[in-house]
Amino acid sequence: MSILIFGHKNPDTDSICSSLACEYLKKQMGMDVKACRLGEVRKEAEYALNYFGVEAPEFIDGVKEGDEVILVDHNEYGQSADGLEDATILEMIDHHKLGGIKTDAPLNVRMQTVGCTNTILYQMFKENKIEIPKNIAGLMLSAIMSDTLIYKSPTTTEADKEAVSALEKIAGVNAEEYALEMFKYGTSLDEYSIEEIVNMDFKEFDMEGNKVGIGQVFTLDIDSVLDKKDDFLDYINSTAYDMLVLAVTDIIKEGSYLIYKGEDDVISDAFDVNGEQGVFADGVVSRKKQLVPNLTSALK
Ligand code: MG
Ligand code: MG
Ligand code: MG
Repeated sequence: MSILIFGHKNPDTDSICSSLACEYLKKQMGMDVKACRLGEVRKEAEYALNYFGVEAPEFIDGVKEGDEVILVDHNEYGQSADGLEDATILEMIDHHKLGGIKTDAPLNVRMQTVGCTNTILYQMFKENKIEIPKNIAGLMLSAIMSDTLIYKSPTTTEADKEAVSALEKIAGVNAEEYALEMFKYGTSLDEYSIEEIVNMDFKEFDMEGNKVGIGQVFTLDIDSVLDKKDDFLDYINSTAYDMLVLAVTDIIKEGSYLIYKGEDDVISDAFDVNGEQGVFADGVVSRKKQLVPNLTSALK
């Protein structure tokens, strides 16, 4: 039976793409391996798979005694396949803290403090002098851009950037432009109604006797919200809140677009902007640390 390669449960783009890149690498090295996944393919990874024309790894709902496995992008029982305690772990390739796995037999472990498992796999391809095909390079680059949030994440290293600059030549894409499209697709709000978007992550506060609601959504598909600004306002203004702010947060630009029921002056004071519908509040990404305290003091 093939050796099973899989990333963590609730797989992100790195877990999906590292199982496939590792599968290709190990096959070239003469091993009988199969890429698997422990959960549904999310939209972001779906974008990468479609773009580069690769099929998703096969879903498995657990492993059993006698199975031989390679873990990528994780190293903890809690994040891994059910039954892992009974299987044989041959290898772990990961970029996280050690999570307490114990084994009966020796194994290969490759852990590095880099931003993404695919950066380690890139190095393993090089060390083994195995050429990376275009579609696999595309998946690897997708994962690195995803895990490093286009290099914005503090986990980003020079090794991640080096890998991407080599991979984008093979894959034939501009990594940053490609990643923005991937994130846009991955965070698209298309399938949600206006009411669902406003209430997706919504909290109510009492500020100086005012009933204030703050909703926040993280997306890169900003235009799909701003294009419907008037419809959002119709709904927001129909609520019973004295003030309601919807923050549409762009993680790449590191700020939020604000659509609100309330006085322009309060928004101006709170966020040091020219208060108008859809205004971009630079640097405002946290409800707890910024939206709530800033609005509270502006309402005083
Ligand atoms: Mg991951
Ligand atoms: Mg990762
Ligand atoms: Mg991740």
